Amino acid sequence: MLIDGRISSMKYTNSKVEEIKFNNKKFFVKRDDLLDKDFSGNKARKFYYFLKNDFQNITKIISHGSSQSNAMYSLSVLCKIRNWDFDYYVDHIAGYLKANPIGNYKEAIENGMNIIEKKLDDEVSKDLDKSIHDNTLFIPEGGALEEASFGIKILANEIITWAEENNTTDLKVFLPSGTGTTALYLQKYLPFEVITCACVGDEEYLKKQFLELEKDNHPKILALDKKYHFGKLYKEFYEIHNELKRQTNIEFDLLYDSKGWLCVSKHLCDCKSDILYIHQGGILGNISMLQRYQNKYN
Ligand SMILES: *Cc1c(COP(=O)(O)O)cnc(C)c1O
Repeated sequence: MLIDGRISSMKYTNSKVEEIKFNNKKFFVKRDDLLDKDFSGNKARKFYYFLKNDFQNITKIISHGSSQSNAMYSLSVLCKIRNWDFDYYVDHIAGYLKANPIGNYKEAIENGMNIIEKKLDDEVSKDLDKSIHDNTLFIPEGGALEEASFGIKILANEIITWAEENNTTDLKVFLPSGTGTTALYLQKYLPFEVITCACVGDEEYLKKQFLELEKDNHPKILALDKKYHFGKLYKEFYEIHNELKRQTNIEFDLLYDSKGWLCVSKHLCDCKSDILYIHQGGILGNISMLQRYQNKYN
């Protein structure tokens, strides 16, 4: 089939690693944000399984979450490539977003997403959870599923190869977490320490997420003194985002990376090991966040 030929010739893997300096400290950055123009970052790794494998009977994906989610956008790209329908449930869509679509929401709709403003009923989701029903695949919120390990293992192997080629043996890998799926599977497949921080929920929530996937071998979790709530605006998030852009010329994501870099700055600046920071994309989501930040702080 033509579509399969197209998928196998597209790569969506092998992102480059760049050396940067931030506040006079050297870091390496794995540029997963540049994997592809449309299918990039964390969600491209986590949904790679669904891009690459054969799903002969599948004609539709159902998922749910927020109306500006990166997972929602990436699933819309996946469904477009594979010619699948995409039903996405959200509890609520803000009136201003409906009136002026931007960011992930706008692009996902343009990709053909069928957005349904309705709570995904517990019965329905239990029924669909992680199993294939008829012609439908259910993807839990944020892509927290075992199949994610397929693409994350490939990411781990790229890191191992890079470290070998650069004779790097004392390496720590940092990435900020949402569900923790990516950090956990990276730790599973990497011979290096994986360090993370909790961006959605607190450190206890993240530990619980890890436990649901694996009994042990969990990534190390760094914390900040102040509590942050996912999706809210914080002046220090905006400032470090702008400072990173100014010093490194790389745009990082505002929801995860700002907290990630605050943690790195606080805990890892005196670290003797080389640090590899995984840039997990999310730049399309910045459009709506930047609009909110500019209204508040500029
Ligand atoms: C989804 C996402 C994360 C979090 O990934 P988890 O596997 O849920 O921890 C981090 N950064 C970006 C940009 C994301 O889109």
